Order: sequence, then C-alpha cells, then structure tokens
Amino acid sequence: EFDMAYFQSYSHVGIHEEMIKDRARTETYRTAIMHHKHFLADKVVVDVGCGTGILSIFCAQAGAKRVYAIDASEIALQAKEVVKANNLSDKVIVLHGRVEDVDIEEQVDVIISEWMGYMLLYESMLSSVIIARDRWLKPGGLILPSHASLYLAPVTNAERYSESIDFWRNVYGIDMSAMLPLAKQCAFEEPCVETISGENVLTWPHVVKHVDCYTVTIQELESVTARYRFSSMMHAPLHGFAFWFDVEFNGPANNQHKKKPTTLVLSTAPEDTPTHWQQTLLYLYEPIEMDQDQIIEGSVTISQSKENARFLNIHLEYASGGRAFVK
Ligand code: SAH
Repeated sequence: EFDMAYFQSYSHVGIHEEMIKDRARTETYRTAIMHHKHFLADKVVVDVGCGTGILSIFCAQAGAKRVYAIDASEIALQAKEVVKANNLSDKVIVLHGRVEDVDIEEQVDVIISEWMGYMLLYESMLSSVIIARDRWLKPGGLILPSHASLYLAPVTNAERYSESIDFWRNVYGIDMSAMLPLAKQCAFEEPCVETISGENVLTWPHVVKHVDCYTVTIQELESVTARYRFSSMMHAPLHGFAFWFDVEFNGPANNQHKKKPTTLVLSTAPEDTPTHWQQTLLYLYEPIEMDQDQIIEGSVTISQSKENARFLNIHLEYASGGRAFVK
C-alpha cells in the first residue's frame, strides 16, 4: 500500500520535470555515463528506476548493447514511448514493474540508478539497487554512482529563525509573543528541506555515513548512527544542523584502489550549485550562542520508520557549554 502511493507519486510529470531540469543532477549523470563510454561499449545495463528513460537513453547513446529500463510507476509507459520515438526500442527494453519482481534472463555489466532521496536516505531506494546488484551484476561490473556520503554540520540561520519566530513579536502592531511557544514547536518539529549557503555553516561537516555501492548491505541502512564533535569557526548563534550528501562515479570495484583526481562528484553541499535536493535542516527550539572554537558534540541516529521503511526517524543528541539536549 505504501509502495503504491510511492510509485503513484512518480507517475506525475512534475516530479520528472523537476529532476530533469536539475542540471547539476542530470548533466553530472550524463558526463559520468560518457566518461565510462569505454566500459559501456557493447555491454548490458540495468537502469534501476528509469523514470522517463533519460539515463537509459544516455547509456544507449554511449554505446551500450542493451539496457533494461525498470520502473514500477506508470511513468514506465511513457518511457516506452520516448524510447520508441528515439528509435531505440531494439536496445532499451522497458520493464514496467518493481526491480524486486521483474525477471531479466541474463547477468549485466552495469547498474545505473538515480536513487538518492532527501538527505540521501529518504525513500530508501538504495535497497532496490542492492537487490539488483546481488541478483544481476557480473563480478567486476560497474555501478553508477559508486559511492555516496552523507554529511552533517552545525548551522546559523538568523534570517530563517526570525521569519518563523520573531515574526510573532509584532504583528500589525499587535504583540503576539504569546504565540512563540507554539510557533517554535510547530515550525521546527520536522526537518525542513531548504537551500542554505556556505556562509550558514559554522564549521567543516562530519561524515555521518559513507556508502560503497559495491559492498553496502540492506541491513546496514536500517539504522545509521554517528558520533560527532564540532568546533565552531565563528562567533554566532547555532540554530540547528544541516544534512547534505554527495555521490561519486568511480570505475568498477577492482580498479578503484586510489581515488583518482578526475573522480566525478555530484554534490548537494551548501557551497555548491543548488539542486532540487537542497539541504535538510533540523532546527533547534532555542538557538545556542556559540563562541569561536566552542565545542558542540553529540550523536545522530537515522533509522527507517517501522511503519514505512521509506520514511526516516532522526534522533539527535547535542551538548554544548555544559548543557545537553535531545531532539
Ligand atoms: N532515472 C530517472 C528517474 C529517477 S527517480 C531520472 O534520472 O530521471 C526514481 C524512479 O525510480 C522513480 O520513477 C520510481 O518510480 C522508480 N523506483 C523506485 N524504486 C523502484 C523499485 N523498487 N522498482 C522499480 N522502480 C522504482
């Protein structure tokens, strides 16, 4: 039932328009596919969650012999039409179904997928890539993207805080401060997906999770915990924490010993080109005044919701200046 709603959401044109218009996303994928042209030539590819078919078509253009384009959403019917209109029906085979349910009669050389959700793990689609990998990928095969990292950093965002909170202090000349507790409770109860800039970030981020797509397991993603310790580089109020991620497009598992300088990265960091993923913010109920070099430390646990594994629960502990909090 949950999955029906999930796949339904991908049958609308708007969501695909938004993703495809995100040039940082789509162009990095295309560049990565073209970058691995030598590997793709005459090879068999699976596109996990093909949507409109765009990545499958890029792979066919890069010389792939055959591409299995799989999507459980009704958008697969559109992908079929797009493939036909581009005279690629002999190369790109669109399968309308869940990756978990469809059959492919051969092993494949390459898996491509755009599976990343907000703060990387929302939607839990990586599990489907893992299933595809374990069922179909030949040893020495290529997975794009190959690696992913989720980051956490403390942020200051006075403007945003003021818009939602201080606003109540003077409303058309009326003192509505009585609304403050409710406003604080409601405004920041849930994570906010919004764009911040590098200037909002108080110090270097912490890597909450590094994923190697060649080896990651489904169990490993059920719950992720990381301890962090930040030293603020600025004197500023701490308003909350931001998550963002990047993914890398490295070669097959057996020749990635060294991180080459040419590694292609799709980054959703605040200092990089904004993407439709933006950043995910967790705001505090009360800001904490930070001195330069002041330490803030604690832990974060991100776990799949028991009711619906596509949703996440975030447990955040933070302590600074002798006071400790849990959110
Ligand atoms: N590859 C496309 C679409 C990416 S969005 C592009 O880059 O533009 C992710 C797509 O994966 C959605 O269309 C969704 O319906 C599909 N999807 C997610 N999980 C899936 C699964 N388990 N089986 C089949 N399709 C899946």
